[in-house]
Amino acid sequence: MRDLQQLHAHLLKTGQAQSTYPASKLIQFCALSPSGSMAYAQRLLPAIESPDTFTFNTMIRGYTKTGAPKQALLFFVYMIEIAHPPNTHTFPFVLKACAHVEELKLGQSLHAHVVKLGFLADMHIQTALVSLYSVCSDLEAAQRVFDRITHRTVASWNSMISGYVKGNLPKRAFEACDEMLQVAAEPDEVTVASLLCACADTGALGLGRWLHDYIAKKGIKLDAIVGTALIDMYAKCGSIERAEEVFGIMHEKNVLTWTAMMWGLAMCDRGESSLGFFYQMLETTDIKPDAVTFVTVLSACSHTGLVDEGRRLFACMTRDFGIEPRVEHFGCMVDLFSRAGLVDEALKLMESMPLEPDAALLGSILSACSRSPGHVELAESVASPLLALEPDNEATYVLLSNIYASENRWDDVVRVRKRMKARGMTKTPGSSLIEVGGQVYEFIAGDKRHPLSNDIHKMVEEIERKVKEMGYVMDISEVFLDLDGDMKKEVLLHHSEKLAVAFGLISMNSSEPIRISKNLRICGDCHSMLKMVSMVYSRELIVRDRSRFHRFREGSCSCGDFW
Ligand code: ZN
Ligand code: ZN
Repeated sequence: MRDLQQLHAHLLKTGQAQSTYPASKLIQFCALSPSGSMAYAQRLLPAIESPDTFTFNTMIRGYTKTGAPKQALLFFVYMIEIAHPPNTHTFPFVLKACAHVEELKLGQSLHAHVVKLGFLADMHIQTALVSLYSVCSDLEAAQRVFDRITHRTVASWNSMISGYVKGNLPKRAFEACDEMLQVAAEPDEVTVASLLCACADTGALGLGRWLHDYIAKKGIKLDAIVGTALIDMYAKCGSIERAEEVFGIMHEKNVLTWTAMMWGLAMCDRGESSLGFFYQMLETTDIKPDAVTFVTVLSACSHTGLVDEGRRLFACMTRDFGIEPRVEHFGCMVDLFSRAGLVDEALKLMESMPLEPDAALLGSILSACSRSPGHVELAESVASPLLALEPDNEATYVLLSNIYASENRWDDVVRVRKRMKARGMTKTPGSSLIEVGGQVYEFIAGDKRHPLSNDIHKMVEEIERKVKEMGYVMDISEVFLDLDGDMKKEVLLHHSEKLAVAFGLISMNSSEPIRISKNLRICGDCHSMLKMVSMVYSRELIVRDRSRFHRFREGSCSCGDFW
């Protein structure tokens, strides 16, 4: 800064401060050097007699790069207002600023501007547009621009791929990666981190391992971003040992890295180890936990039943780290109390909190009511706001109906069922993903789309026959459709995770564990059937459902039938 001020003084003394060239160079220096200051650059600007486009671009770029996207956009507006024409170098940073604030409407009008000025063929502008649309979740628009790019850079591939990942289209992300490799574009650390995210979302461990090899082979640096993405991928694919290995060899770790590790351990019922990492982070590094870290450790406590530890952590979050509890933190505590059977304490906490409870929190209390008898009134009082928040969540109706049934209140059971039926069953269809031979397959309930569909359905029947011999009885209590008993059995038998398991059994090497990820909570019937399958077929089955991992081995599950 002092150099800048001296230079500025010199320009003033020699009467050059108003001439465009030296003054705009000074602005450039101010705006773009790490020691510069945007405020100073802004002060210099009015002194220039006729600032050129280069100077305007420098300002916009400077604001975008220093994390002030709104100022960058305002500056662009000012440029247009005074009728100073933008050029091709103006737009990439304006678009980037727009992506930062995620303003789709503004982005569309900038896009129109680009077209009107005839700049659409510019590669940097195209890439920035793809990225903007991806960030704003308008994938169709992103794809349209992307398809027009004649010379795609790694940056433009990355924008498209991260758009697919963010838009929950992992398969498209993998396909784009294939295409990218075919045209000999080399994935870089950004591509790899996005794809690892897609693997984590789908439980595609094989592809994740391939990416890990690729990172090693290409010498891609295992920095905090790539390393954390790897840890997260292994953890979410149920391979916590590999996550720990990666964690062990990483040199650069940040709070996200530590939290990813804690999360992975918490989800596979190693709550104590998860907390161990938390304390290790506090004791051996200068890294401060953030709000997400606390959600993670509090969930670890709740999954492991560590009530006192949870209480302590909840208190120290605000006292020692100045983090105000959000509804998620209260939710974890309520869940912790509910799971431990402390329904009254859970309720007291909910009533005392200064925030509106969310669906997860109300759901925890409702499931607590379903586990401890005599709480019908409480159940009703949380079910109505819960149904207002999530009118199509089947689990709520099921819990409520079970609670009434346990008190023999059959009229109420019927009433709940009618209400559910009236809603027309628009719940999210259950879907299970399984990766076989480097490809991710999706099954939905009753699915017949797979080319091996006949074999898969035959296998389901075989499984049913074999597990019945072992004493399995189908549990139809959670099927909420208005069907007769046989039809209910038919529906249950074709739940997506059963189809995925059958497919895994017929198509995978018998020494490999079968890994499935499911978008909803696994139902009680699938859970007890998979326990049997793990015994009858001597196979390890790892199912990640909406809230946790289930590792089925030799007839039992790691969750201890509590999920
Ligand atoms: Zn099921
Ligand atoms: Zn389980």
